[in-house]
Amino acid sequence: MQITFGLPEDFNPSAYDMIVVGAGYAGAVCARRLAETVGFRVAVLERRDHIAGNAYDYYDEAGVLVHMYGPHIYHTFSENVHNFLSRFTEWTDYQHKVLANVHGTLMPVPFNHKSLLLAFGEERGEELYNKLIDTFGKDVKVPILQLREKNDPDLAEVADYVYENVFLHYTMKQWGQTPDQIDPSVTARVPVFVGDDDRYFPQAPFQGMPAEGYTALFENMLDHDCIDVFCGVDARDIFELDETTVKVCGNVYGGEVVYTGPLDELFDLDLGALPYRTLDMEFETLDVDQFQPVGTVNYTVSEDFTRITEFKNMTGQELPGKTTIMREYSHAYEPGSGQTPYYAILDPDNRKLYGRYLERVRHITNFHPVGRLAEYRYYDMDAVTASALNLSDEIIACHA
Ligand code: FAD
Ligand code: UDP
Repeated sequence: MQITFGLPEDFNPSAYDMIVVGAGYAGAVCARRLAETVGFRVAVLERRDHIAGNAYDYYDEAGVLVHMYGPHIYHTFSENVHNFLSRFTEWTDYQHKVLANVHGTLMPVPFNHKSLLLAFGEERGEELYNKLIDTFGKDVKVPILQLREKNDPDLAEVADYVYENVFLHYTMKQWGQTPDQIDPSVTARVPVFVGDDDRYFPQAPFQGMPAEGYTALFENMLDHDCIDVFCGVDARDIFELDETTVKVCGNVYGGEVVYTGPLDELFDLDLGALPYRTLDMEFETLDVDQFQPVGTVNYTVSEDFTRITEFKNMTGQELPGKTTIMREYSHAYEPGSGQTPYYAILDPDNRKLYGRYLERVRHITNFHPVGRLAEYRYYDMDAVTASALNLSDEIIACHA
């Protein structure tokens, strides 16, 4: 596929049936679906100098395939999503495993049978495990906040340990708030697992890594005669919105617009900025074969960073004598600072503010916000793909 850098002087919006803002999952999925189903001519505008959004990967100076915007591990329960994405990549059978470093002991996260034995010793750990099975059943996921509600001394012992040693400090670092203060769905992403499955995404039937990497997956998805990709183009420079229309390059645009950026930016944050957390990613290449035993180690009781990822452990890349690791430091996002808004901070006030921005585009019937930023959601890659496939179906239905 070919990427044009910058917008050509003779760029003519009306030559396109659809303009897509953003070349991440949300934008690329919509572009591909509309191009291949109803033959839409699609222009994809991306302000970064590369495609693939936050899933972008590249080979660093040492030759290690790294994820520029944090570790991305594909996993899904959706056969529909999996079938769609599998058209553009083969998958490795990588099963993501995470260990928590708790005062030097490495325990599986989600906290599971093995973690219990490591934390409480063989005998007491087994007793507590049996109690968990009696209470919740086997091979089930129990969110930490739900476990804490149980009025039972044994379960309280487990809950207190996990809360203190796995969730409290990590969550403080990641969100600047305690697990009780943040939206319960966030910690529920990493429940206690009553069982032996030690994968980070227990039970997810489809998981792995794209065999040639994420960027290659996107190159294949966007490689279509009807799709033109323009990088280094910020849509805000050519878009103007009023109550019912969107102008592109000064003229009312009659085609469809798929927008995958933050909604507040479109209005210069005039109702206030939507709050996000951002990350500083610190990459380091080491002259060793391997740094740590698994893809990611979470530092749940110590350090200023939340986790260290070692990319070779996830991609399976063979490169003796070199490895690249990455530490993540989380802090509040400052709009206009050039930082990346990675995580929407989900609370009722922020959702309300988002709703007010959404209201302002509701009557622009050809303008479609979709994706993790534009929907202000904590979406994984599969959820974004599902949302974009749904939107695509709606647009297709109007044009078939
Ligand atoms: P994005 O990937 O953010 O793409 C939006 C694109 O729009 C960006 O490239 C942006 O530059 C562009 N854009 C925005 N505004 C404009 C504009 N005005 N003009 C032009 N372009 C614009 N998901 C998983 O499933 N597994 C994981 O392991 C995983 N790990 C993650 C780790 C981290 C640290 C983070 C932050 C996320 C992780 N995710 C993971 C989530 C995953 O990154 C997202 O679900 C997915 O990338 C969202 O796709 P998107 O298209 O909605 O947004
Ligand atoms: N979490 C935690 N300790 C861990 C792992 C996760 O406290 O060892 C909490 C933390 O609040 C985190 C949330 O669970 O933000 C979701 O974790 P996940 O790994 O899904 O976050 P992501 O990979 O999206 O950053």
